[in-house]
Amino acid sequence: MLEDEALLVRRVAWRESSWVVHLFTRAHGRIALVAKGARRLKSPLRGHLEPLHRLHIRWRPGRIGMGVLAAAERHEALLPEARWPEGLAITAAAAMLFPEGTEEGFAALEAALFTCAKAQAPSAYVAGLWTLCSKAGIAAAADACWRCGARHDLVLAEHGLACTRCGTGPSWPEAASRALAGQTAEAKAVELALALLASIFAAQNLRLPKLGG
Ligand SMILES: [Zn+2]
Repeated sequence: MLEDEALLVRRVAWRESSWVVHLFTRAHGRIALVAKGARRLKSPLRGHLEPLHRLHIRWRPGRIGMGVLAAAERHEALLPEARWPEGLAITAAAAMLFPEGTEEGFAALEAALFTCAKAQAPSAYVAGLWTLCSKAGIAAAADACWRCGARHDLVLAEHGLACTRCGTGPSWPEAASRALAGQTAEAKAVELALALLASIFAAQNLRLPKLGG
């Protein structure tokens, strides 16, 4: 039997009454487990297998195939309820960026949800996503040309930030860099930050999860 701290990233109905749960664990990487009978009203697992909460789990690893979840205990939420829509979309993004076999998902999602919880409201989603991308190693600087490192006259080019000598696109104001840090309430800056994140995801052949979708 193994045990660890975990964050739920996906829950898929399996057979009549079970779930297959995908979890990031602190020390065992991303794992998928069968939660037998967990959809039954009386299951002790029911009510504990929720995203955005710190979980403590015990499981029997599978000799062949999936392991089996033996116990799960739900602890505190990682962000306030008002941020759950952002938190769920960030969790969905983490599930894409850290597929099975990766080790860093837990730390990355924990940090992203923490960033999201602290950020100014309109920039909470982009700030959380930016933290995820940084941890995944697919984000470059938030305030410099990705090609030459210049820090002035930045634009949002097709493949990331560029200075006006290295690329073309809509101008990238300082407020957009602050949006990625969760420090602005300017809607226009948040929109630009989201466009940059969408292009980063597109470069990985991924689509940015929609907020509340
Ligand atoms: Zn440049």
